[in-house]
Amino acid sequence: MDSGLVQDSSMALKNTTDIFAKCSKFTRAKELISAGIYPYFRVIESAQDPEVIINGRRMIMVGSNNYLGLTSHPKVKEAAMDAIKRYGTGCAGSRFLNGTLNIHVELEQKLARFIRKEAALIFSTGFQVNLGVISALAGKDDIVLIDKMDHASIIDGCRLSYGEVKKFRHNDMADLERVLQRCDGRGKLIVVDGVFSMEGDIVNLPKVVELAKTYGARVMVDDAHGIGVLGKTGRGTAEHFGLENEVDLIMGTYSKSLASIGGFIAGSSDVVHYIKHFARSLIFSASPPPASVAAVSAAIDIIEDEPGRIERLWKNTRKMLSGFKKLGFEVGPSETPIIPVIVGDNETAFRMAMLLQEEGVFANVAVSPAVPDGKALIRTSYMATHTEEQLDTVLRAFEKSGRALGLIS
Ligand code: PMP
Repeated sequence: MDSGLVQDSSMALKNTTDIFAKCSKFTRAKELISAGIYPYFRVIESAQDPEVIINGRRMIMVGSNNYLGLTSHPKVKEAAMDAIKRYGTGCAGSRFLNGTLNIHVELEQKLARFIRKEAALIFSTGFQVNLGVISALAGKDDIVLIDKMDHASIIDGCRLSYGEVKKFRHNDMADLERVLQRCDGRGKLIVVDGVFSMEGDIVNLPKVVELAKTYGARVMVDDAHGIGVLGKTGRGTAEHFGLENEVDLIMGTYSKSLASIGGFIAGSSDVVHYIKHFARSLIFSASPPPASVAAVSAAIDIIEDEPGRIERLWKNTRKMLSGFKKLGFEVGPSETPIIPVIVGDNETAFRMAMLLQEEGVFANVAVSPAVPDGKALIRTSYMATHTEEQLDTVLRAFEKSGRALGLIS
């Protein structure tokens, strides 16, 4: 009896493929590491400030999403430390069961007021918001319409949902309309980034909203890069266009302007209540830790009390947009603190990042397939707390590196 079983399993082994085989065949990253041009997982030994320490060396950081510079604000840090003193370091459970603290509920009320919606619900990451919300709302008879450049978490939220997914060309409203016309009478959710995370352009929200009304669709905006950045008071893309009442759902993350980790969805009470009971990434994952929650709450107070920060962010943004253009770099359609410098092929982007690093500048690299082929880019992003001198140094570093690679004359 025993020997039969052994024989069966060894036969099965002979016919099988090792699921790990692909791992040893994946050599691209190892080649870049050997060539000394691998720009990922760089180790930082300091805070996400305008200057960071890498290998004991000071570098100017233009690869952080800490737009308002609040991760080092004394009031934000103090709030996080106070929360740890009172509540400890973790919640040891989901919001659904033992993981809801009074500060979670208070933050939800504060976010709802800030975003000017009836209700808000907080998750442990922004990624989980998109996974949970889209998969909760889009059932098998529904359709989700997404921009081709939407964030990966939106795409993965669609994959998890039972709904049909239709993509439209990036910020192309004629294409969105073409797709909407083929959606018959089903439930429809249009999901767009407010500010697109690679190219830094802003969604054509007025037209999205108009088309949604015409075709009976609902609109969800992922405002990860809009909150704290766009709108007169930093309330994001909907405020920027004066369309706060027209957008049904606003998603935000704490990992950018809000100086922490976590995310939220804001909308009508009924819809948020529904999501609260169907979003699996909320129900089956532990709630955001007390320090993170307290940091976000303090960050919102500062956004409201210190409007000068947003002004400084935009002053820095304008300086860099015009600086790059004057040097002859291609920055695409960017109109926000995310400024990509498009360099062409992947290899050039890796080399550019390393040359910049030698010049004391930390910038990110985005290559295909994350961006279209031949459009590899150095993604730069700015903080309210960068100084003029730091930004001038960055421009000089780009000029020198760009010349060395023949990108500018
Ligand atoms: N949406 C967009 C547009 C993002 O850029 C990001 C983060 N890069 C997320 C969602 C996910 O947010 P989080 O970092 O909070 O998981």
